[in-house]
Amino acid sequence: MTCADPVANSDQTILDYLFRPMGVDGVYARTRRYEDVVDALQSLISRHRPDEAVVFRFPPVMSLRQLEKQGYLNSFPQLLGCVCALHGTEADVAAAVNRAKEGEDWTRGATSAGLVLSPAACYPVYPIAAENGPVPEEGLTFDVAADCFRHEPSKDLDRLQSFRMREFVRIGAPAQIVVFREQWMKIAESIAESLRLPFVFDRASDPFFGRIGVLMAANQIEQALKFELLIPVRADSAPTACMSFNYHREHFGKTWELVDQQGELAHSGCVAFGIDRLALALFAMHGLNVEEWPGDVQEILRLK
Ligand code: ATP
Ligand code: ZN
Repeated sequence: MTCADPVANSDQTILDYLFRPMGVDGVYARTRRYEDVVDALQSLISRHRPDEAVVFRFPPVMSLRQLEKQGYLNSFPQLLGCVCALHGTEADVAAAVNRAKEGEDWTRGATSAGLVLSPAACYPVYPIAAENGPVPEEGLTFDVAADCFRHEPSKDLDRLQSFRMREFVRIGAPAQIVVFREQWMKIAESIAESLRLPFVFDRASDPFFGRIGVLMAANQIEQALKFELLIPVRADSAPTACMSFNYHREHFGKTWELVDQQGELAHSGCVAFGIDRLALALFAMHGLNVEEWPGDVQEILRLK
């Protein structure tokens, strides 16, 4: 084992120490030991927040219509979770309850509540930004977070179905987005170094759906629209993407009619922190007992 290897804790040991099962793969109750680190990471990221950033904390659900409008169903329908409820008359609802009592699937009677489980923290911010009229010359910056859901059940603790995402979002001219992304890749690098987490950067693509998705992913890589910062969380497998740096070009500008003072479509980009993956990486790298982590790491996180 070199010093850059994660401590050889199996997912099972980490699960036993830090989480409690909730009956479904990728959905866990988190213990205090883990949550203290999550809080510390959130505070560390807040200390890097640009002064001008407008802060929003979103609920774990968002409008189904808004997500459809931005084209999510064409790109990632396999990941989406939607909220359904029992609509209809009292008799309709009672019939569904009775089906459940007979051991049948009551959810067959449930229909869309107009909500989806947010698959990323930044999606609700673009329509909010668009409501304020043209984007100012200096652009816009947001600090957003949400509990996100993606339907990708797995026993791996670095691939959850329900996980926390924190993002800084920039809306403005193309050059402003490029500078923002470059700055944040440098800041991310210094954060990872200060936490003594070994990392690599790589170009990446999103898991686009279907055969056409292969082309979209190739296009994304070719245009360098997405970079990831990857950290090893297991001694025997490829490193895990813990942060991503995304350039959406005018995608959200077009969807939400976000324009600049001259009426040109605004561009956007975001830097996303996978809070649960970062916390897991810390435990995997430095061990299960925070008190035994390197002193400087504890200090940076203000855990001592
Ligand atoms: P992956 O390629 O691993 O599926 P992604 O590229 O789809 O991840 P993004 O859409 O960029 O991820 O999401 C931003 C961040 O959210 C990721 O860098 C990661 O840290 C975190 N994240 C994404 N999916 C999961 C998941 N299933 N469990 C935990 N964290 C996740
Ligand atoms: Zn984003």
